[in-house]
Amino acid sequence: MKPHPNASSADQHPINYQIRRSERAQKTRIVVSAGKIEVVAPLKISEQRIHAFVTAQHAWIRDALKRVQHRAQNSPSLAPTAYSNGVLVPFQGRQIPLTIKPTSAKRLRVQFSDDHFLVYFPEIIADDGSERIKAALESWMKQHTRQLALQWIEKHSASHSLIPRSLRIKTQKSRWGSCGPYNDINLNWLLILGPPVIMEYVVVHELCHIRHKNHSRDFWQLVADHMPDYLKHRQWLKQYGASLMRGL
Ligand SMILES: [Zn+2]
Repeated sequence: MKPHPNASSADQHPINYQIRRSERAQKTRIVVSAGKIEVVAPLKISEQRIHAFVTAQHAWIRDALKRVQHRAQNSPSLAPTAYSNGVLVPFQGRQIPLTIKPTSAKRLRVQFSDDHFLVYFPEIIADDGSERIKAALESWMKQHTRQLALQWIEKHSASHSLIPRSLRIKTQKSRWGSCGPYNDINLNWLLILGPPVIMEYVVVHELCHIRHKNHSRDFWQLVADHMPDYLKHRQWLKQYGASLMRGL
């Protein structure tokens, strides 16, 4: 199931795409996301036919790429341009003030308390520290994403016994989460920039893939059992997700 690069060149500009074979796919379909075109195809269809299909869909793909790009460009970044004293940092759907305190300690440390990010910044570091602080906040948020995701898993796994084999926190440019064939769940830490309920929805979504490895009616019914108002959250992600994807 490893994607491999292909190119279709109906005009001067070839379209690079990846083929993903799927046991469950009935028809060939094209999925366009930020900077990536994926063709999901049934096992038995030849590469030649897939290529012909992609070539025929050339105009549609161009339009879809433009739409995705437009959406990304029109989604404001939630993060400050530089990490200095007093800026606001996006976290759990809010904007949290950042305070930088010099310390004689040798290592930079991040603390979150009283709705404040506190960064202890070693005096021996000569640069302004913006990039270091950003990296430290990212790693703090990744750890925190893990803790929160485990809480959502605990809340939802008992009902219908949806128990993942493992949980990995990743940085991904075009997806929020995934559930592998052996129920290993991957989650994008950028979800922590949005409201908590949005991360809960993505966790529920991936947990439900433990039972249904597709997006069938039964799948969505199971999601609704866990979160009756899931449509609202799905819509939120479609509308504002690109801003989260821009990161810190
Ligand atoms: Zn899904």
